[in-house]
Amino acid sequence: MFIRELKQSVTTLHGVGKSAANGYEALSIRTLSDLLLLAPRAWEDRSTVMPLGKIREQPDGTYANTFVEVVSHSFFGGRKAGKRTLKIIVRDISGEGDGRLSLLCFGRNFLEKTLRVGRRYYLYGAVTRHMTELQSSQFEMTPLPDDGSDPPNFGEILPIYPLAGALSQRIIRRDIRAVLAANRFDDELPQYLMDKYQLIDTDSAIRTWHYPHATADITAARRTLAFTELMYLQLVARRRTFSSPGNVRTVSERIVLAAKALEETFVASLPFSLTADQRTVLQEIKRDLDAPVPMNRLLQGDVGSGKTLVAWISALHVIAGGQQVAFMAPTELLARQHAEHAAQLLEPLGVRIAFLTGSVKTKERKLLLEALAKGNIDILIGTHALFSKEVEFKSLRYIIIDEQHRFGVEQRMAMLDKGRTPDVLLMTATPIPRTLALTVFGDLNVSTIHTMPAGRLPIITHLVADKSRQRMYQAVGVEFERGHQAYFVYPRIDDSGESDLRDVTNMYEYLSGTIYPGVPSALIHSKLPEEEKVDILLRFRTGQLRYLVSTSVVEVGIDIPNATCMVIEHADRFGLSALHQLRGRVGRSDIQSYCFLVYGDDLSDDAKLRLKVMRESTDGFHIAEQDLLIRGPGEITGTKQSGFLRLHFASLTEDLPMIQAARTEADRILADDPGFILASNSVIRRVFAQAPPFDEETTEVS
Ligand code: ADP
Ligand code: MG
Repeated sequence: MFIRELKQSVTTLHGVGKSAANGYEALSIRTLSDLLLLAPRAWEDRSTVMPLGKIREQPDGTYANTFVEVVSHSFFGGRKAGKRTLKIIVRDISGEGDGRLSLLCFGRNFLEKTLRVGRRYYLYGAVTRHMTELQSSQFEMTPLPDDGSDPPNFGEILPIYPLAGALSQRIIRRDIRAVLAANRFDDELPQYLMDKYQLIDTDSAIRTWHYPHATADITAARRTLAFTELMYLQLVARRRTFSSPGNVRTVSERIVLAAKALEETFVASLPFSLTADQRTVLQEIKRDLDAPVPMNRLLQGDVGSGKTLVAWISALHVIAGGQQVAFMAPTELLARQHAEHAAQLLEPLGVRIAFLTGSVKTKERKLLLEALAKGNIDILIGTHALFSKEVEFKSLRYIIIDEQHRFGVEQRMAMLDKGRTPDVLLMTATPIPRTLALTVFGDLNVSTIHTMPAGRLPIITHLVADKSRQRMYQAVGVEFERGHQAYFVYPRIDDSGESDLRDVTNMYEYLSGTIYPGVPSALIHSKLPEEEKVDILLRFRTGQLRYLVSTSVVEVGIDIPNATCMVIEHADRFGLSALHQLRGRVGRSDIQSYCFLVYGDDLSDDAKLRLKVMRESTDGFHIAEQDLLIRGPGEITGTKQSGFLRLHFASLTEDLPMIQAARTEADRILADDPGFILASNSVIRRVFAQAPPFDEETTEVS
């Protein structure tokens, strides 16, 4: 049987009632297999005796693990009898050296009745030295069995599990032991993979994971379970891109996109040359566009690294072949900015561009939709309105999605329905650590732009304590005198949006009234009508406004090269990727730019760490890796709740080599034996049929 075949509820276990079941529920444990997949936080090594005679030489906090006899009781501290604390002196009887220990029974004076003088116990407890005395206040005393056998837990390495509700270590250990005792588990990987990666059998692995004979065995067990888990994760993710018949273009759909002239004319007309990375990713994208299997590619690169330009060039590749392109941005503002930019760049080449959002009015909309259906529009740029029902393309071949992490799964699905096996390019400026790219985004191929166009100066980042903000205002004022512009950003403080509004409003009044009187500025936030936002941004772009005070609406995409200062208030409340995104709004030209991260006094250690990362690095990839380390994968991908990333054994921060190996093996298997027909791979087929490790419903990127 496979581990995940144990679908019975934990309540079927002897002794698991309502309260334990609630505790398990809080740990997301419902079935017996969930229970087995629960990872110990740590293990307690009680396998070797640590007698009192030896513990004196050990560091404070070392655990005594030995047999003792109670010598005496006394009380200390407090004047009144009821306030005093019981102290029990025990002596070592393990035969491995003499020694005495004082058990300090804070709040446990009742032990006077149970731990009687002359009785013998198994002691496990953390010991500290005070002058000449050894003391322990955290201890367990278990009566020695009369028949001379070992007491429970003695001589073992015990798992320590995370707890919730009424659960205790004793309950979880009992339940896991019961499940292990009642079952034998089959291997879940082909033998040749187990040999190649020196994995142990699944049954020993899961037993060792919970109850290792030696702590040294834990590593091998974890490797086996982690590699198994990663193999299935990769098989699930990669299977979606590989060889599924509906996913291959028919011959008639495979138009040849050979016309090069348009692209070449365009690239030659640019006032700069493409960076090496831009050229590389462009090749990768074009190779996909020409391939029989539709493209499903993620283009990542820091803000300002030139992704959008690459997207336009690749769009020309498709347009030259007489096909249509859709370009979707997450907000109306951004869509408009892209449309204006694209019009400037591409209309001179004869490319027909249209702009569609929810606010495009009925009459205009009707004309636009007709033109689109006739094929008289080459590129349609807009928000998710592009993919509402009434929108029909003549031949949509290529979908480009900017800032993909802002879109949900349903929106992506709706789009795919608009074309016949269209190619999809997702763009993101929130770099994805390699491990995540290979797992959460496992069905995508990834292209990366690492380097910035030449001539960009790294942004200088200052951390500003709340009390030093006046100095910062001066520095920003100097930038205004130089003719530069600035953003002041507030975090979203709660979901209702009321209090952030109040904060930005106050801030705006303070800045425009007290700090920079007479400097033209505007307040911009998500509750403003769209036209007003567009108008403000236009005035900012043309330099009529010198600074914007905003909620995080300026977070993505806005491109105003003359803005050189980004002030972020309550910087500690933002995630690292959000800070990086915001900072990316400046430093978009060859002028020196600055980012000021303002923090309050009540900074947590985590927040300190995050701000330090921001000060020390402008490398989005480094920042993303750090974010992953500090916050964990669920928070970053927004998949925390989906269950998809519930990796039980593998670590996204530590197991990159294993993840890569699993990806390679999965791709090879899917290429050679997609149905898992070969005898050597048949175990994979059985696992998928009987106990699929990842629920395919939840494996969509969100
Ligand atoms: P992204 O989409 O990655 O944020 P963009 O494509 O919007 O980046 O490029 C940012 C700015 O840099 C734009 O003004 C663009 O014209 C310019 N740019 C793009 N590629 C280059 C290059 N190779 N050399 C110089 N400037 C470039
Ligand atoms: Mg962009």
